[in-house]
Amino acid sequence: MIETTESFTLQGYRSLIMEFFKLNYSIVNFSDMDPLRAHLILRHDIDMSLEAALPIAEIEQDLGIKASYFVLLRSELYNPLSPIGIKILKKLGDLGHEVGLHFDASLYSPSISCLNSEVKRECELLEMALGEEVKTVSFHRPSSKQLKITEPLAGRIHTYQPEFFIDIGYCSDSRGGWYHGHPLEHPSVISLKAIQLLIHPIWWNLKKKLGPVEVLDDFREKRDKLVAKTLSANCDPYRNERGANPESLKGQTK
Ligand SMILES: [Zn+2]
Repeated sequence: MIETTESFTLQGYRSLIMEFFKLNYSIVNFSDMDPLRAHLILRHDIDMSLEAALPIAEIEQDLGIKASYFVLLRSELYNPLSPIGIKILKKLGDLGHEVGLHFDASLYSPSISCLNSEVKRECELLEMALGEEVKTVSFHRPSSKQLKITEPLAGRIHTYQPEFFIDIGYCSDSRGGWYHGHPLEHPSVISLKAIQLLIHPIWWNLKKKLGPVEVLDDFREKRDKLVAKTLSANCDPYRNERGANPESLKGQTK
């Protein structure tokens, strides 16, 4: 039953959460998790597309549950401080979800004192944008050294602290598959104990399951449309030639 045709689609995400409900799991945040109870922490790292988070967040609100969304501040792929970015972050908050910092430590010196001060700086920036406290941090593509950081960073809990990562179950989707095992087959779930489930919204965002390359090409096309529209809005020659809503570059002749 585990891997079905609807896996890694929006409907598949809803079905997965329903399976946890059938097992009497409660969806909790990092602070309320009890390792010995059937508690599911839903963590979403937004690596590529902010827009992809919204349909997932809406399904969760419909199911009456709250998740934690982690956003990068220094990605080349999206800008959480852009008008659309801020709108999406506020919407996530309005739907009842937590917004935390997804922190790319590879951009900084690896010393713990530097990481602490940079986490503090990025959290404060995100707090200014959100108008809310940022309580949780999640490393983006953590190194083995970062996975061994046991203490909170800049006074905020982080998602790889042992109590959330080693002492309880942990399961992650990656590249649009359960390459490290299906969450419902995880020993912690079989024994009805706590688990942290990392979901990257981009892999679940379509109505039909596609391969990872097609999913990312779809994301690129949507991103290109936004870039083209923004160029048209800001540059007369471009708008005169391409119109206010330019077609994808793929369809254009030179
Ligand atoms: Zn990440």
